Amino acid sequence: MFGLIGHLTSLEHAQSVAQELGYPEYADQGLDFWCSAPPQIVDHITVTSITGQKIEGKYVESCFLPEMLATRRIKAATRKILNAMAHAQKHGIDITALGGFSSIIFENFNLENFKQVRNVTLEFERFTTGNTHTAYIICKQVEEVSKKLGIDLSQSTVAICGATGDIGSAVTRWLDKKTDVKELILIARNQERLKELQAELGRGKILTLEEALPQADIIVWVASMPKGVEIDATKLKQPCLLIDGGYPKNLGTKIQHPGVYVLNGGIVEHSLDIDWKIMKIVNMDVPARQLFACFAESMLLEFEKLHTNFSWGRNQITVDKMELIGKMSIKHGFRPLLG
Ligand code: NDP
Repeated sequence: MFGLIGHLTSLEHAQSVAQELGYPEYADQGLDFWCSAPPQIVDHITVTSITGQKIEGKYVESCFLPEMLATRRIKAATRKILNAMAHAQKHGIDITALGGFSSIIFENFNLENFKQVRNVTLEFERFTTGNTHTAYIICKQVEEVSKKLGIDLSQSTVAICGATGDIGSAVTRWLDKKTDVKELILIARNQERLKELQAELGRGKILTLEEALPQADIIVWVASMPKGVEIDATKLKQPCLLIDGGYPKNLGTKIQHPGVYVLNGGIVEHSLDIDWKIMKIVNMDVPARQLFACFAESMLLEFEKLHTNFSWGRNQITVDKMELIGKMSIKHGFRPLLG
């Protein structure tokens, strides 16, 4: 059995969908109420591979909300993730993806030191961040959509916002090794980590976002921002491809500008319908077929009976592992969202 640990994008979003999630009593409650809410299994899922194999899974709503980080309710945020993991394990789930901020909180607050959650001793091998598959899918989106738009990678500058992160560093490594991209721009706040990445790659310009925007033909957004940034589309090149892999979205504005093409990053489409409600709740365009690549990773590990933390820790994702999960993805009928 596979599991997905997820959360909603804001308090407003949570209040508006509380009824659909099965807890109407949460609909007009504020952040403090959500801080004390326990995790819930709100969806039971069956997924069929194009090989004909069928697997079962459960969606665990952690009740974490990004506002908990923005308002420094760190204890509540960490408790949400540990409780959701314990809940998944108690329900016999073999491999669970830590969606959205779940894995970021796990890493940033060193939750591996908190294995004991009441009477449950967490077995970390039952969890995966899903970041290897997410990074692979984003790279395929860069390669395939740039081609569609007539952007020649060998003549292009790709900026990665969140380059030193788990997904960002993996995407950067892939673009460096597997493509002939002309120039890489690395964006994040911590300069030391940026310099380490630059040294590892032996290339890449370190710039601020403002400096990078007018120079980039493609921008990959994989920063862990609780709230999206507003950008001025008139400052961008034309054409320019923006791939927003953040959850919540890194782009705060809906950009509608000639020559600027925005794509939902890290999203896969399955070849067969999945009967579930959760992707409708997170406003996926085609909820029966589209899902986050990190969730699909736990499905792939279940299909392959690889009950192991395939993606774990920070900045450990190799190009080889991305290729491996990519092969599983194709085998079972997932493909990157291309438009
Ligand atoms: P990490 O925490 O590992 O990395 C985040 C990166 O963003 C770091 O480089 C960090 O560097 C940078 N960053 C954070 N804030 C800012 C800022 N204000 N300006 C510039 N850079 C910033 O995160 P992940 O790689 O695990 O996840 C990245 C994003 O992808 C998240 O939004 C996450 O929710 C989303 N995601 C999407 C998935 C999908 O299936 N589509 C799956 C999993 C995650 P620094 O702190 O130095 O600035």
